[in-house]
Amino acid sequence: MFGGEILKISKTCVFPVAKFGPYTPALNQLLIALISPQFTRSFTVRTSLILLLVIASFGCNTTMTSSDSLNLTLRSRDKTTGEISIQDTKWDPKKTALVICDMWDDHWCKGAAKRVVELTGPVNQLVEKAREQGVFIVHAPSSTVSFYDGTLQRKLAQEASFHKTPKPLSTEDRWGTKWCYPDKERGEPEMPIDDSDMGCDCKEKCEIRSAWTRQIKSIDIKDGDAITDNGQEVYNLYKERGIENVIICGVHLNMCVLGRPFAIRQMVQQGMNVALVRDLTDTMYNSQKAPFVNHFSGTDLVVAHVEKYWCPSFESSDILGGKAFVFSEDKR
Ligand SMILES: [Zn+2]
Repeated sequence: MFGGEILKISKTCVFPVAKFGPYTPALNQLLIALISPQFTRSFTVRTSLILLLVIASFGCNTTMTSSDSLNLTLRSRDKTTGEISIQDTKWDPKKTALVICDMWDDHWCKGAAKRVVELTGPVNQLVEKAREQGVFIVHAPSSTVSFYDGTLQRKLAQEASFHKTPKPLSTEDRWGTKWCYPDKERGEPEMPIDDSDMGCDCKEKCEIRSAWTRQIKSIDIKDGDAITDNGQEVYNLYKERGIENVIICGVHLNMCVLGRPFAIRQMVQQGMNVALVRDLTDTMYNSQKAPFVNHFSGTDLVVAHVEKYWCPSFESSDILGGKAFVFSEDKR
């Protein structure tokens, strides 16, 4: 499923003249025009031009190199033993989407809101780099997408043509969108952390209130990106673009990054290759609750849960270089 494939796409051309790309009917016509004595009577000029075009055409028609692909080190775990397995894979950026889940402008939990602010730096870097490489960017600030009504990015999602999903989409309402609950048939147990108190880890407990209105401003939304929190819209966008791989980052892993209709459970169920960016996520977990571990160790437990039952994960440094992101409060 995640096996590395040799990617064959047309590269950006080196020669300005080679904008025609690989050998095409248009190039054929041009060659015929050049051979014709009406173009120039000089045999040397005609031959040189033709040679240049042919060389340029070959220059364009090369196999994609590994620097053009997303080279990811995917980590998964055995369901029973928890044993880690690593697989190096190359994904074609053109067949890949990057989804930013619920990176809202505010949160009822001050600690959670602070960690989102900290995450926006590396998330934005990842988005920029991925977009540059040709990855399709989906901003998914659940239950606030109406803030973006009328924007090109919202319309892109709303106007994508309908494609029927292989399996029915989730229909249960929770927190403003449809929800995918833990999948018992898949053998998915309860979360490894107790989030029944909603997971505020602050010393002084925060009061639950409606806090978010949009995606946090510091994540850039650009032309060609889409904005949606809807499973059908996401699926339509992917099918229109031939997208097979979905990378997901954002918050919160024990809740929305798994359960939202565009997120891990649903996309795996619809047959996409899904991968979590494990350093660019967070959980709602109160370290005073079971299993009584540090907040960030709690997040690691949920990452392991995802790797066991749903999809592999990788670190943002696979795409950005350097080191993986670590929260400033993570002193482990
Ligand atoms: Zn809090």
